[in-house]
Formats: sequence, C-alpha cells, structure tokens
Amino acid sequence: MSDCLFCRIVAGEIPATVVRESEHTLAFRDIAPQAPTHVLVVPKDHYPDVAALAEQPALLAELAREAHAVAVAEGLAEGGYRLVFNTGADAGQTVLHAHGHLLGGRELGHLA
Ligand code: AMP
Repeated sequence: MSDCLFCRIVAGEIPATVVRESEHTLAFRDIAPQAPTHVLVVPKDHYPDVAALAEQPALLAELAREAHAVAVAEGLAEGGYRLVFNTGADAGQTVLHAHGHLLGGRELGHLA
C-alpha cells in the first residue's frame, strides 16, 4: 500500500534504522523510543493489525521469533522484555500496519 508508512519503510522509500530482517519481517528502531530498547517488528506484507496477522499463524510465529532474536541481540533475554501489539483506537494504534513493539532495557512496570 503506497500510502502506508510501514509499507514505505519496508520498500526502502522512508529511512529507518533496521536491526534485523527475515524473509517476511523487518525490525527497526522506533522513532520515539519509550524504553532503552524500542524496536518495531513488522510483517513485510500489509496487514492492518495483529488480528489480521493472526490469520497467518506461521507469519505471526515468525514475527514473534524475530522479536525474541532482537531481544537476545539487545541483551534483554535474561532480564525480560515486553512485546505489545496496540490494536484499535482505544489502544492508541496510530499506524494501521501490524507491528509488535519490543520494549526493554528498564523496569517496565505493570500494564494498567
Ligand atoms: P502505534 O501507536 O502502536 O501504532 O505505534 C506506532 C509507532 O510507530 C509509534 O511508537 C511511533 O513512534 C512509531 N513511528 C512513527 N513513525 C515512525 C518512523 N518513521 N520510523 C520509526 N518509527 C515510527
């Protein structure tokens, strides 16, 4: 989708700090990090949210594996990390291309 921000990052039309790539996913640093490590892991193909992505279980599993691999590379595997998919308006989803937020590197506290 030419008007989708993350599709344009995947296509290389908008710059991003890519930390990992697999056949079907791309991981890049969030432009406004909320933690010492804040990486977005996205499917290369366009799915509007994690519910749509879940229709492709192998792809969702690949994304989760890639997020964990980034966590390991960032030194978060032992201390732990959070993987969040904001979905819909109440969760504050602003980019309608499925993405997992990988957060870590500090005490994250409990979710509300
Ligand atoms: P969400 O609010 O869950 O849809 O998350 C969207 C995320 O995309 C936010 O954390 C933004 O900071 C991040 N973001 C927006 N534009 C860019 C960009 N050009 N490169 C990297 N991250 C971005």
